[in-house]
Amino acid sequence: MRDSVQLGRVAGVRVGLNWSLLIVAVLLGIGLAGSSLPSNAPGYDSWAYGVAGSLTAIAFLAAILAHELGHAVVARRQGLAVDGITLWALGGMTRIEGEAPSPAGELRISGIGPLVSLVLGLGLGGLGLALGALGWSPLVAAGLAWLGAINLILAVFNLLPGAPLDGGRLLHAALWKHHGDRLRATETVSRAGWILGLTMVAVGFVGFAFAGFGGLWLAVVGWFLMTASRAEQSQARLRHGLEGLRAADLMTPDPVRGPGWLTVQSFLDDYVFAPHPAAFPIDAWSGGVSGVVTVKQLKSVPPALRGVRRALDVAWPLARVPIVRPEQPAIEVAALMAQWPSRRALVMDDDRLLGIISPADLASRHAADLHDDPRRRGPATDLVRRGSQNPT
Ligand SMILES: [Zn+2]
Repeated sequence: MRDSVQLGRVAGVRVGLNWSLLIVAVLLGIGLAGSSLPSNAPGYDSWAYGVAGSLTAIAFLAAILAHELGHAVVARRQGLAVDGITLWALGGMTRIEGEAPSPAGELRISGIGPLVSLVLGLGLGGLGLALGALGWSPLVAAGLAWLGAINLILAVFNLLPGAPLDGGRLLHAALWKHHGDRLRATETVSRAGWILGLTMVAVGFVGFAFAGFGGLWLAVVGWFLMTASRAEQSQARLRHGLEGLRAADLMTPDPVRGPGWLTVQSFLDDYVFAPHPAAFPIDAWSGGVSGVVTVKQLKSVPPALRGVRRALDVAWPLARVPIVRPEQPAIEVAALMAQWPSRRALVMDDDRLLGIISPADLASRHAADLHDDPRRRGPATDLVRRGSQNPT
């Protein structure tokens, strides 16, 4: 999830908004001003509901930010780098690099978010109820009571025991401590997250059939959980499979390379016949490597143009391919490969090409001892980005 707008730094953490959040904020504001507030605090002018609804929606976003800042600040205290927080349609996401050093660390990082929501829920809700009981400003009381309730819902929802929800991470910390096996714990909580997501999708569709759009929203959140839990599982397996390895262990050494100045047709004729690799480093006319061309790139050129365009015209130039050293840790290499569109890395010692690493080389390292289902293998995704996600 990308930031569309940067809000600046809060407590030293970069905070951004994704445009999808604006739609949700507007819908929330309209719902509050048009229905929830008038029914709980009748008798005001419509502009008063408009102002109160907008302020309440903004306060709700601030509450989500407080929840995420909790994660970010505690993660920093645990020595982890925090890349930033993004607020988007399904809540907030704190991008924490790497993993908690210990089960106790994970417990603190994950537990603080729901705790913040719980405290806000009790505090704001209590204040709203107190104001209501005293008969002071029923509109403010109704807004506060709504904020209190939504924060309590947020706390409870995030405590559901499936990754990537906070509850899933808390369960992960407990299982990790109990069995001493981090990967096994990840497998369990990602599966739980997937089942939880699937349940929400099913319940959401039934709800949609009988009660309208609220159900559809639940299904969307459930779908997101299913996808995110799968991605986490895959990343954990990959990370486990790469532990202790270096770039040299992953690479295909001395790969077949071809001249970049050949036409696409000549390249296909001379180099791409079965069995062939999915990508070739290409040579520059002046010597040395000038980039990487994939068979897919070559074949994407329409047949009529294949005799005119050169391989290097369609290839990834060297500037867009990560170059790694043979001794570089494999986990770092995988993270780089995930960030670059070419999805391949060249292993070089100064100017000398030693090998190429493809997504397939990484996929084959997925912790195979865990009865890995080959259908689930895929290229490395955001390896170092472990998001803490809080769907609302
Ligand atoms: Zn959280």
